[in-house]
Amino acid sequence: MKIIAYGIRDDERPYLEEWSQDQRIDVKAVGTLLDESTVDLAKGYDGAVVYQQKPYTAAVLDKLAANGVTNLSLRNVGVDNVDADAVKRNGFKVTNVPAYSPEAIAEFTVTQLMRLLRRTPTFDRKQANGDLRWAPDIADELNSMTVGVVATGRIGRAAMKIYQGFGAKVIAYDVFHNPELEKQGIYVDTMDELYAQADVISLHAPATKDNTHMLNDESFGKMKDGVWILNPARGALIDTDALIRALDSGKVAGAALDVYEDEVGIFNADFGSFDAIPDERLKNLLKRENVLVSPHIAFYTRTAVKNMVQFALNNNKQLIETGKAENEVAF
Ligand code: NAD
Repeated sequence: MKIIAYGIRDDERPYLEEWSQDQRIDVKAVGTLLDESTVDLAKGYDGAVVYQQKPYTAAVLDKLAANGVTNLSLRNVGVDNVDADAVKRNGFKVTNVPAYSPEAIAEFTVTQLMRLLRRTPTFDRKQANGDLRWAPDIADELNSMTVGVVATGRIGRAAMKIYQGFGAKVIAYDVFHNPELEKQGIYVDTMDELYAQADVISLHAPATKDNTHMLNDESFGKMKDGVWILNPARGALIDTDALIRALDSGKVAGAALDVYEDEVGIFNADFGSFDAIPDERLKNLLKRENVLVSPHIAFYTRTAVKNMVQFALNNNKQLIETGKAENEVAF
């Protein structure tokens, strides 16, 4: 059995080599993404492991199939950039990694919240200027707050545990109710109830066509004054202009954003200087001390990267050996 892995970053390579040695399976790692210029490298392999934000186009998938490779294992969750018609037409088997480390995202979300509540960005700046005074930057405590968790999937549940560990009251909204959480009486029936009660709103829902700009002028208006907003889920959930208005008015006390609606092509790129970042709205947010923007790094831990690589390789091996895999995605 021979597997080719595309777009392998330096931080992924050791985990790929470890798996290859343990399994005694030949894995060719290439640094470039799967596209028309690299698809022929797959000739002679039984499966391909991939991860990229750019599309897996029909042209590339047709060529990959013509090269004899129809076992495709993604190292991430989302499959929306895979051309579904080409998958069906060529009989591709596609797998993803639905959960590589929900805790990675949950821990980062709460870290950012605690930085906001304890005003650490402000104290860091003051200290760098030799100002070691306390006032006026008095902090808040999470244990006396109500946290509204939006979506109680894997990441939402991992975040809830940490909030509860801090002693916060947790309420949650989800279109689907987890039976265990239902018993604990955690769910509210509507988002409006969550808006009315929450001091902190922690978003963990996927982006769907129904929840675009779920947080907008109207929903901010229903929230408590001085609410804290956390979005480590998807940028499209928040109307950025409305958030800026709510920050300006003080309705929102602060926000931690690991995602941004226009992040593609911007996050994980080096522009050389702050001024050169080509997005004025993003820079508006980045300049605020009560807003923590991070470039989609909540997932980026050693555990998660190892799991993304090795779970995808396991999936690909399963496909090659048996023609099916538990993480197969239906198209
Ligand atoms: P999951 O599939 O385990 O859970 C998603 C939950 O969302 C489900 O319980 C579902 O019922 C609920 N849901 C769907 N639509 C909803 C809506 N409109 N309102 C309320 N609830 C809704 O997913 P997960 O693993 O917990 O991941 C959640 C999201 O986190 C992902 O969709 C992704 O957008 C994001 N994510 C971010 C990073 C990062 O690095 N920042 C990494 C991985 C995932």
